[in-house]
Amino acid sequence: MCFRPTEMQMKKCPKCGANNKPIATECAQCGEPLEQMKVDFDADQAKLDSFATMPPMPSAPQAPSNPVPPSIPKPPSA
Ligand SMILES: [Zn+2]
Repeated sequence: MCFRPTEMQMKKCPKCGANNKPIATECAQCGEPLEQMKVDFDADQAKLDSFATMPPMPSAPQAPSNPVPPSIPKPPSA
C-alpha cells in the first residue's frame, strides 16, 4: 500500500508551514486554525447563532416592591 499524500489537497499551515490533512480544522503541529474548504460563512453564522442562543441578560433586577409579602395564615394544626 503506497500512500501518497496529495500536496494539492493538503492544508499548509500559514503559521508553521506544516502539511495537514484536508479535513484538518487546525494545524496538528502548532494548533493554528486552518481555513475550511467549505464556505466559512457557515462558521460565522454558527457563531452568531450560538451567540443568539445565549440567555439574555436579565433586564429587570428582582427587586420586590413589597418589603414583606403577605403571609398566608396557617391553618391550626391539631
Ligand atoms: Zn502550524
